Amino acid sequence: MTGSLVVVGTGPGKAELMTPATQTALARATDLVGYGPYLDRVPKRAWQRRHASDNKVELERACHALSLAAAGRRVAVVSGGDPGVFAMAAAVFEAVEAGDRRWRDLDIRVEPGVTAMLAAAAEVGAPLGGDFCAISLSDNLKAWSTIERRLKAAAEADFVIALYNPASKARPHQLGHAFDVLRQVKVKDTAVLFVRAAGTADAKVVATALGAADPSCADMRTLVIIGASTTRQVGRWIYTPRSEREVAS
Ligand code: SAH
Repeated sequence: MTGSLVVVGTGPGKAELMTPATQTALARATDLVGYGPYLDRVPKRAWQRRHASDNKVELERACHALSLAAAGRRVAVVSGGDPGVFAMAAAVFEAVEAGDRRWRDLDIRVEPGVTAMLAAAAEVGAPLGGDFCAISLSDNLKAWSTIERRLKAAAEADFVIALYNPASKARPHQLGHAFDVLRQVKVKDTAVLFVRAAGTADAKVVATALGAADPSCADMRTLVIIGASTTRQVGRWIYTPRSEREVAS
């Protein structure tokens, strides 16, 4: 097997937020595989083949990419943000685990990218300055009861919580349910940030409190950050202090 496969993340959107290592990997590839809008972020090269697919068929796409690599092609699988965060890198390894045993001998690499949570945090200040966690609200691949259990546990542990996939046309009600779960544990004035199109020229921030948070502020390009009890505002910025030690009196 002489081909190779690299899974890259193109960052949140803006060209400058794509890493040089990812740009190099993309320039070296003979074949690009990915969801159409992510492939559109890659400069066109006449000699490269593009295999655009629908967003939903991740495992199929991963198998296709692995068979191309097994046939000797230099394949780049293109994700948004970071490829390891709710994205294609894990899909590739799932496909390796379930597929042709020879795929385990392929040259497979992952190039990191700037994930939405980091770009969103940077838009508002430093809300991820203390301990935080990330939860995807999509129940396509896990039960809603699992999501509820994790939301409750994260709220009880006073993590800052980054919510990926807060809403889509097929799942319009889940963010409202998630807020209901969080309101049972966290106080009403907990900071809630809706950051849409973070790390792009169209970035938009809505900063509010858990008691007033309106789930319709989020769509599938929004990252929602729920503050910890220490998350606060200073001037125009929102941050979570690094220290949680009591100030000695
Ligand atoms: N691998 C991606 C995440 C894929 S899940 C990453 O690392 O960023 C898709 C979800 O990511 C979206 O529903 C949204 O919640 C979030 N997202 C992706 N790009 C975003 C952006 N530019 N601004 C805000 N949220 C974004």
